[in-house]
Amino acid sequence: MSDSYWNEEIETMSAKAVERLESERLQTQMEYVYAKSAYFRAQFDKANVKPESFKHRNDLEELPFMEKYEIANSQLEGHLLGINQCASQEDIIRIHATGGTTGRPMRVGWTRRDIADYCEVGSRALWANGCRPTDVVFECMNYNLYAGGVSDHLCFETLGATTIPFGVGNSLRLLEMMNEIQQDISIWATPSYAIRLATLARENGIEPQNIGVRKGFFSGEPGMQVPGYREKIEDSLGLVSFDMYGTGELGMHSGECAHRNNLHYGGTGVVLTEMIDPETTKPIPFEEGVIGEFVYTSLRREACPHLRMRSRDLMQVFVEPCPCGRTDFRFKTLGRSDDMFIVKGVNVFPLGVQATLSSMRPKLNGEFQIILDRPPPIDYAPRIIAEVARDVPKEQYDVLISETMAAIANDLNFSTAVELVEEGSISTEKKSQRLIRDY
Ligand SMILES: [Zn+2]
Repeated sequence: MSDSYWNEEIETMSAKAVERLESERLQTQMEYVYAKSAYFRAQFDKANVKPESFKHRNDLEELPFMEKYEIANSQLEGHLLGINQCASQEDIIRIHATGGTTGRPMRVGWTRRDIADYCEVGSRALWANGCRPTDVVFECMNYNLYAGGVSDHLCFETLGATTIPFGVGNSLRLLEMMNEIQQDISIWATPSYAIRLATLARENGIEPQNIGVRKGFFSGEPGMQVPGYREKIEDSLGLVSFDMYGTGELGMHSGECAHRNNLHYGGTGVVLTEMIDPETTKPIPFEEGVIGEFVYTSLRREACPHLRMRSRDLMQVFVEPCPCGRTDFRFKTLGRSDDMFIVKGVNVFPLGVQATLSSMRPKLNGEFQIILDRPPPIDYAPRIIAEVARDVPKEQYDVLISETMAAIANDLNFSTAVELVEEGSISTEKKSQRLIRDY
């Protein structure tokens, strides 16, 4: 068996074989949800289709989309898990929550087999990241309620890594413990937490590179593909970083390989992913470089299956072969489709702004927020608040503002009103929220 893959058979499967596997599992999943759920039966009846009609992924186009708010609304009415619950209570052994689009956590249930699948796809992604059973991993995600804690922790254990359930908070204690261990260690955290840890180390007289963190597995926030952001983390802590992607509904299923050329889709055989145009909802074929919204259909889910669930996440996909030999598509996240805004006909993603601002390091530190003061149409120059590096004197702000506005106009083709603030002015809790609609 090769050391390159967690599940060589699945990860190097030909497109034809993936199609066969998907068709087989799709059929079984459809029969299951039809038998178990009045909600899904109604969806099938509305579309005038039967479970046995689903012989191929293209047949899914017959079905209406599912939206997360439908599940969230049914939970508001008092359901433990909501309209898509298919397994009986005695078979459900865990509930964790997702961040939820409305700010209210949404509960997701899991049976024993669902969790085994969660750990399987998580292990594929982590193995691609270069995580191995010899690694000592500090798990620094939030264990309170969310998937990043207990559920992701078990992926590391399934893979065989030595996993330390540290959680978030008490960062000074974490630094002390890391510093004490005289061997290379790894961290599983959000990228912004890694930056915070490096800052805290310096403030406490510890050289961040001496802590010994040599591999960083990062998820929970976009931005790792923005070169400046990633380098900032790697340079300050002296580690190699790998991006991971997942959602609370599906688990962390995709990760970069050693070539770090975007995320390898790792959900093969467990989740079927379609791509659609978010405006017209028409399917988009998987071709090199195309952009669209991912739509998920479960293939083996017992507790809370999804049928054509819209992710509202925009992705760019890549289908050219990767030297690592993994065969399914690769992708990168462009942000929430809700976070895209249009300025005088130009589509703008906060990640694009992040890339330009990061290219202006070391004068800017890469932290920023975009403020939209008025509802669309955005026929005005949106405000961008950006943090300046500590050693830039105030007299230089005016010149730097002009440089920043010129760089954004040049790279992204829209006008902005840039305001500069001192390092640390944008609050830590809001750092992952790049776009503020202040109306
Ligand atoms: Zn690869």
